Amino acid sequence: MLAKDAVIRFVFESLPVRGALVQLESTWQRMQRDHDYPDPVAEVLGHAAAATALIAQSLKFDGTVTLQIGGEGPLRMLVMQSTDNLDLRGMASAQDTAGDMKFADLVTGARCAVTVDSGAMERPYQGIVAISPDSLAASLENYFAQSVQVPSHLQLACNEVLCGGILLQQMPGQSPTLEDDWRRLGILAKTLRVGDLADGASHELLHRIFAEDDVRAFKPREARFRCRCTQQKVEEVLRLLGEEETRTACEEQGTVEVTCEYCGRLRTFDAVDVARVFTEQPVSGSDSLH
Ligand SMILES: [Zn+2]
Repeated sequence: MLAKDAVIRFVFESLPVRGALVQLESTWQRMQRDHDYPDPVAEVLGHAAAATALIAQSLKFDGTVTLQIGGEGPLRMLVMQSTDNLDLRGMASAQDTAGDMKFADLVTGARCAVTVDSGAMERPYQGIVAISPDSLAASLENYFAQSVQVPSHLQLACNEVLCGGILLQQMPGQSPTLEDDWRRLGILAKTLRVGDLADGASHELLHRIFAEDDVRAFKPREARFRCRCTQQKVEEVLRLLGEEETRTACEEQGTVEVTCEYCGRLRTFDAVDVARVFTEQPVSGSDSLH
């Protein structure tokens, strides 16, 4: 069973280890469409997309996972989000010098935050780790070990066509995994290359990677690019910008244009719209107002 833009969960029948395999193709291409990312930045963004989908697929409630990288380094900011339904969006912003940098230089001094947000929870859960100079995967392995206390192996892969990865986690509350087996599974997971995912994620690929193990794989779940920007949220941004500044911009240019950094959608406000935005009372915490 081959599945593009999909996550396949699996368990090892004889070891207390579970995992997930992800392949993102049209999702990943759509994410890059309105941007001209230098190669090293695109690679981190692709790795982030795969990793965020792998974290979000494990949520047992309606929620959103947000992976953020920020710091003083050439990669100024990266944001990647996935809902538990695997609706993804993400973007990055980097200095012009990022074009031929190694990962370690790109993320100098940066930190990586993973936020899990749910309507059911009072407060979002956030874990923050320093970025490992080795890779985003190594940084997130540290996050899983320190913040979630779940030993994990993570392998991420990316080119301009597709991105993907594999996550292995020891199951909490079960007898500890034999160290040799855990190390062996990690080494096998790290053999995943972007070329292995060219045709999609598949049960066959899992059986090929873990050829000696009894792997039970579940039905693929579809992932897609979906931006959740709304007219209301953009109007909130204008309110934050302030009435005077917005009116001045509108007078100078005739309209105010706001482009969503995630999906590229352009929203135009003329003088009448701007007047409405600043006279209407915003309804906070609701998307029902359009
Ligand atoms: Zn958008």
